[in-house]
Amino acid sequence: MANFKTHITTAAIGSGLLSTLCLGAGMIQAEQLILFSVLGTLGGILPDIDLDHAAPTKLLFTALGLLTAFFMLNKQAPFYSIIELWVLAGFSYALVRYTAWQWFNDLTQHRGIFHSLASALFFWFLTTALSHHVFNLGALAAWLAGAFVAYGFLIHLILDEIYSVDFINKRLKRSFGTALKPIDFKNLRTSAVMLICVVIAFVVTPSPREFGRMLFNPKTYYNVSTHFFPSGTWFNF
Ligand SMILES: [Zn+2]
Repeated sequence: MANFKTHITTAAIGSGLLSTLCLGAGMIQAEQLILFSVLGTLGGILPDIDLDHAAPTKLLFTALGLLTAFFMLNKQAPFYSIIELWVLAGFSYALVRYTAWQWFNDLTQHRGIFHSLASALFFWFLTTALSHHVFNLGALAAWLAGAFVAYGFLIHLILDEIYSVDFINKRLKRSFGTALKPIDFKNLRTSAVMLICVVIAFVVTPSPREFGRMLFNPKTYYNVSTHFFPSGTWFNF
């Protein structure tokens, strides 16, 4: 299994390369380059949220807990006194950060459903939906944002598989085939739940038409080829 540092570095390099290609293709703007690279990098560490007590998982649930607490304050502010609001916010934070986190740990198994192509699709659609509905990104940018997360996710799964090949002894480790799989065949119930989540997330995504048109347009690739090498001398020397 590849470690956290390997995952984050590989995903960051892969995302940087892809976002530059997208820029050359005219799919993204220069100011969006950082956003998409960061999303791809995050996608590259996302599958390991199924590692019990892993730092990224704790961080994720801390962020979710804070969001829930602030959301609670926002919604309940007109009805309660200050002290009651503090109690409510603290309670909602603890519920997410500790109870939901514990429940998630018990439920997930390392290299289970979160190491699968179905999960990559789920996080793609979820990111696209959130980018559009919560962060007001246009349909094309929202689909690209999701695609970058899924791309980082895929890099992670491939890297895990590469690390399960023992090149020195030319044999496969037991973990081979546990990362890059369509669904978790050993746990069909969680796989079914994940597939339902994929469908629900897809339903709330904005229209993929613009994204598809750009992806299947030969001009996009023509743009990449014309921008790949400098037209004059290197670095304008
Ligand atoms: Zn992994």
